[in-house]
Amino acid sequence: MGMVLGFALVSGFFNGSINGSYLITWWSRHKTSRKILRNIFEDKWVCFSCGVKLKGMDMIPIYSYLRHMGKCRYCGCSIGGSILIWELGGGLLGALIYYLVLKELIL
Ligand SMILES: [Zn+2]
Repeated sequence: MGMVLGFALVSGFFNGSINGSYLITWWSRHKTSRKILRNIFEDKWVCFSCGVKLKGMDMIPIYSYLRHMGKCRYCGCSIGGSILIWELGGGLLGALIYYLVLKELIL
């Protein structure tokens, strides 16, 4: 049971942090352009400052932020602390949801 719970918490945290990262990035991009209803899947993942298309290694929640000290690794501009807070908060919320669902189903 402990291993299942651990796996659920880790995967819940990981999925939640991805969603938190996606939400804050999407919101940051659209709050200035006021195109809230735009198709979110049309967006490319680029640096807001230099416009370089980000690679997969640049978009791993929490890890990428800490590895590059909160800066774009191409131009060095500051990404801002809110993305890390959203990734951590999303991760904790995801782990909590996975725990509650698992508790309801198995425990
Ligand atoms: Zn950049």
